[in-house]
Amino acid sequence: MIKSDIESILQFNSKTELIESTLFIFDIDSTLYNVSPRTQTIVDHFLQHSKNQDLDPEAAKDLQKIKIQKSDWGFGEALERENFRSSFKFTKTLTEYWRQHFFSNDYLQFDQYYPGAVEYLNIINSHSPLIYLTGRSRQKMEAGTIDKLKHDGFPLNAENTLIMKENTEADNLYKLKVVESYMPSYQRIVIYENEPLIINTIKEKCPNIHFVFINSTHSRKENLKYNHPVIEMDYTPLL
Ligand SMILES: [Mg+2]
Repeated sequence: MIKSDIESILQFNSKTELIESTLFIFDIDSTLYNVSPRTQTIVDHFLQHSKNQDLDPEAAKDLQKIKIQKSDWGFGEALERENFRSSFKFTKTLTEYWRQHFFSNDYLQFDQYYPGAVEYLNIINSHSPLIYLTGRSRQKMEAGTIDKLKHDGFPLNAENTLIMKENTEADNLYKLKVVESYMPSYQRIVIYENEPLIINTIKEKCPNIHFVFINSTHSRKENLKYNHPVIEMDYTPLL
């Protein structure tokens, strides 16, 4: 059963607030999953190609020693932290290689869900409607996303809609539109999200929406403009 921690972090007043008419919306990347192992594996595979190493052998050696941490946004922050230097061509090729594979089905299997996330979502799902709202491209990442969520035991049945991006619209505007479309059908909406730009955009337009901020990593485009309950990459305190 749901313990009182859940209600308190959602700033609910009582258990009776957790009713059918509350919709729970979960982002995926850096909200449910640490995606740094995906990036690390892509970088490792990049280095396995000798034609990539040949672009800048010294840089290739340096890159091999750099470890992507779970608080890193992509690989750029890790390179910056380690004061990584390389030829333009090397970094350009690495960036293209990373982008091509990161936004694909092929490496999603390397993502690691945050502790307790699977159990937490299953508890929520047994009490309330739950959907996923991700900036991942449906065209490029749908199959891998479904496989991974199911493999890891996240609730994904007919009623757990998986909303993915169908075009190249900015994530914050795309998510705002989706959330607005759900508002008439639910008394309360709670969104779990790691990106301040998205939270701020939606909160400004829809002040009644509740957020839980996942303090993992984000684009650094904005800081949070409002206070929200926080999850520190670990859902177990909520179980
Ligand atoms: Mg995210």
